[in-house]
Amino acid sequence: MSTQRLNAISLSAQRKAIPIVEETRRSELFGKHVFNEDRMTQYLTKDAFQSVKNAIFTGSKIDRKMADQIAESMKAWALSMGATHYTHWFQPLTGATAEKHDAFFDLLPNGRAIEKFGGSQLVQQEPDASSFPSGGIRNTFEARGYTAWDPTSPAFIYGATLCIPTVFVSYTGEALDNKVPLLRALHAVDEAATGVARYFDKTVNKVLATLGWEQEYFLIDKTLANSRPDLVLAGRTLVGQAAAKGQQLDDHYFGVIPLRAINYMKDLEVECTKLGIPVKTRHNEVAPNQFELAPVFEEANLAVDHNLLLMDVMEKVADRHDLKVLFHEKPFAEINGSGKHNNWSLATDTGVNLLSPGSTPMKNLQFLTFFVNTIKAVDTYEELLRASIASASNDHRLGANEAPPAIFSIFIGKQLSEVLDELEGVSQGKLSPEEKTELKLNVVGKIPEILLDNTDRNRTSPFAFTGNKFEMRGVGSKSNCAKPMTVLNTIVAKQLINFKKEVDALINKKSLKKDEAIFNILREYIKSSKRIRFDGDGYSEAWSKEAAKRKLSNNKTTPDALNVLSSKSTLELFNEMGVMSEVEIKARQEVELETYILQTQIEGRVFNELVNTHIIPAAIKYQNSVIDNIKGIKDIYGTGFKKQAVAQLTILEDISGHLEATRKKSEAMTEARKKANAEKEVHKKAMAYCYDVRPYFDDIRYHCDKLEQLVEDQSWPLAKYRELLFIR
Ligand code: ADP
Ligand code: MG
Repeated sequence: MSTQRLNAISLSAQRKAIPIVEETRRSELFGKHVFNEDRMTQYLTKDAFQSVKNAIFTGSKIDRKMADQIAESMKAWALSMGATHYTHWFQPLTGATAEKHDAFFDLLPNGRAIEKFGGSQLVQQEPDASSFPSGGIRNTFEARGYTAWDPTSPAFIYGATLCIPTVFVSYTGEALDNKVPLLRALHAVDEAATGVARYFDKTVNKVLATLGWEQEYFLIDKTLANSRPDLVLAGRTLVGQAAAKGQQLDDHYFGVIPLRAINYMKDLEVECTKLGIPVKTRHNEVAPNQFELAPVFEEANLAVDHNLLLMDVMEKVADRHDLKVLFHEKPFAEINGSGKHNNWSLATDTGVNLLSPGSTPMKNLQFLTFFVNTIKAVDTYEELLRASIASASNDHRLGANEAPPAIFSIFIGKQLSEVLDELEGVSQGKLSPEEKTELKLNVVGKIPEILLDNTDRNRTSPFAFTGNKFEMRGVGSKSNCAKPMTVLNTIVAKQLINFKKEVDALINKKSLKKDEAIFNILREYIKSSKRIRFDGDGYSEAWSKEAAKRKLSNNKTTPDALNVLSSKSTLELFNEMGVMSEVEIKARQEVELETYILQTQIEGRVFNELVNTHIIPAAIKYQNSVIDNIKGIKDIYGTGFKKQAVAQLTILEDISGHLEATRKKSEAMTEARKKANAEKEVHKKAMAYCYDVRPYFDDIRYHCDKLEQLVEDQSWPLAKYRELLFIR
């Protein structure tokens, strides 16, 4: 048998679960490694603490003297925790996080060693940024970029390093990361939503967007995963015949978690708890060796940081358990892929979830206001929302059986659909006392606090209302939630601003009462955003046709989906909301396209390598043994041998056929890649990779998988699906 696969199988079969003993209660561990409010009150002077609080609440600047004080205290705490280094932790446009470690340790001119970390090191750093993608921003403006502390996300210690969450901007102020646009979007939605929330409660001063992500992933034995070049380099299997048993039995979903995996999860959860990531639920997912982890929701910026940190911690902890985490959206063909549902809502500083139906008609009118405005926002900007989740890897998942389609629609359930239908009938202008009473008693007043059909069970809706929050389901498991969260919060901000203008106009010019004005505007929104509401089967052919009639976008590929980023309406939106300038948006579009090209290019190369150095040689070798066999039969039977070698000859020809097809298609793919590479303009190049190169992948795979079924098991060089998915 191929030695690498053989070794990997025998090694993985012998592995024992690594026991995890939890000595300390989770509640005691929580946030132990975080410079959180508790630590701050302990280590900071009152003034310094107040200046951090102000920075968090109002976005005010922390002056240099304060920064020095804060840095001193942070250092004292970090050293007491055994930290030796510090780093500015940031989110370049690559999608992952980056860090550059510096030692606290420094030498004075007299040669004496000290531990140095002052306000200047806390507040600003200049990483060598030249290798991070900037979509041309740095060429256009200023070569350098710098990182600056984001006080809204607390510093933490990971390993022996104090990590300081930072933004990454160019010297001329353009955002070079995913955090800055998110922070700007959160600011925009805060202002807009506060304005609207004050219709209902004058004491509201701030509205926070909340995010609770659900991270799906696969756990595969490390050695087995590392034995496959495609998993190592592309994060997914490019070839592989489905196992005889897949996920049909559904016996994994919510079943008993395998021991190695449960120990991994315990270990991971302890790490997360120390880092202040409030992980709460864990369970098996639908596919074998697929799992999910979800936290308690948090303020969106913090939740994004925590998800990025989590992904990093997951990989490191997995290594200790001889496991590999696959974050790719579709690591295995014909097996469910992984997503990262983004549960989103808005909460006031008075502790009210604005998307939670309440106990009184007035609270419900507030709920309906935010509910309908969100629907309207998604209706107006559905294509932009789709673009925010576009990536080469997510293209494999969107529209596959388990994931929502590329068409955006909103599921709200039967009960709320009925409420909106009623509201559509509200009279124009002033309402009679009878109508008001009727609305309060029988429409708004009847929204139950707990909605019964609050989940879309078939999970096909990309954007579903689930009781007290919206759930955005198309987000890829690998992606940075900052991207969809930036778009969602920006479009809702824009929508709420429009709403307030319209309501105020009715109050001031038509002298309507506040609730009358609100009913009037909501009625129009409900009417004009009807096309986005859909409660049926998102996979059906009928829905595709219907969606086209409704003029909903249906961008199945990333290069198509990204076009909308440079549309007039997008540029105006981001500009008006102060979230991104034209330069910043176009830079992101370019980086996304380049990333798409690179990922597809890598897959193409890995494909060639697999075909030429693994699959074809294995098939030829096996074919030789068939030939030897046929020769032997001929020796015995002479000219009449064919009658005795029918099976062998068929196998021989089948192998030859698939060998030739594999070789031919993979050569044609190489040619297509060369042509694509010659393309200078980035969008055209991405289109070439998408429409000229990528279609070969399925073709090549088809023939390789046929060969896997023909070639003797012992001689097949690549770990098979049943081994990757069922060895635990
Ligand atoms: P289910 O498990 O049925 O999908 P849950 O209520 O357990 O539903 O929520 C799933 C996710 O939604 C969790 O990550 C949770 O933190 C998040 N979530 C719950 N309420 C909110 C909210 N108000 N804002 C944002 N996320 C929320
Ligand atoms: Mg969910």
